[in-house]
Amino acid sequence: MERGLLIDGKAIAAQIRQELKSETDRLIQNGVQPGLAVILVGRDSASETYVRGKVRACAEVGIHSEQIRMPEETSEDELLDQIRKLNRDSSIHGILVQLPLPEHISPNRVISEIDPDKDVDGFHPINAGRLATGLDSFLPCTPHGILQLLKRTGVQVAGKHAVVVGRSNIVGKPVSLLLQRENATVTMCHSRTEHLQAHTRQADILIAAVGKRHVITKDDVKPGAVVIDVGMNRNEQGKLAGDVDFEEVRPLASHITPVPGGVGPMTIAMLLYNTCLAAEASGDQNL
Ligand code: NDP
Repeated sequence: MERGLLIDGKAIAAQIRQELKSETDRLIQNGVQPGLAVILVGRDSASETYVRGKVRACAEVGIHSEQIRMPEETSEDELLDQIRKLNRDSSIHGILVQLPLPEHISPNRVISEIDPDKDVDGFHPINAGRLATGLDSFLPCTPHGILQLLKRTGVQVAGKHAVVVGRSNIVGKPVSLLLQRENATVTMCHSRTEHLQAHTRQADILIAAVGKRHVITKDDVKPGAVVIDVGMNRNEQGKLAGDVDFEEVRPLASHITPVPGGVGPMTIAMLLYNTCLAAEASGDQNL
């Protein structure tokens, strides 16, 4: 069996962007240019970088994007008003509120205000509920990106044992649901899991979505497993590092994603995908 094959998220995301460029060309010919609004409240430097990346990627595939910057002291009501305005704006098909928000604003309240048909992050309770009950919905971008990485690398998911470490609403929970939908047998682990290693060592597909550098080492991985590292952590030098100790786990794994260049680029690609999907759905109604 081959070992240590790299899953190149950068290349797969570029391929998806190319496919989406043809899709936006087609939509534009039909009179609908997909539009995405990105709202950024405050001045978090990591958020600024993510927003720049999203806006750049939109331009590459022909999606119209609007950046709405609001000061740190913006009230929750002001932000909700802004969202309602975008809900009514027919040139905007997708609305994304960059998280985290300042502490005085409730992310749940804000996400719930987004029109579910424009909820391209897939975080609205209606879309989360649709995913949980097996109905069509916008899929959350990072989990959907992970699934695309597996599919496009030819990794068999059906019948395999997937272990997901992390149970957040934006990564762990929805990726578990998606893997189940693809007929994997899924185990979910979290900070209160006892004997974590006993679980992770059983994984054919191991997804680490914890947010702690090198929480997964070679002792936590079954030889031949596919390892997907969602973590984005900074080391002492400010360099980006994943949840997995890449150097020592790579020789053991059959396939592994690097950080950076693995899951990260896929998250943005799937955001563009959802925006095209939203534009297409609006076109169906308007044309
Ligand atoms: P959260 O902090 O919301 O969730 C972390 C999860 O990990 C929780 O469920 C927590 O358990 C669990 N956990 C914490 N410590 C341990 C431990 N020692 N052992 C087992 N489980 C543990 O994080 P997110 O899901 O939002 O993000 C996870 C990571 O992924 C972060 O590094 C984030 O930056 C990155 N990320 C990357 C993206 C990308 O595009 N590449 C997109 C989104 C996130 P409990 O529930 O019990 O607290």
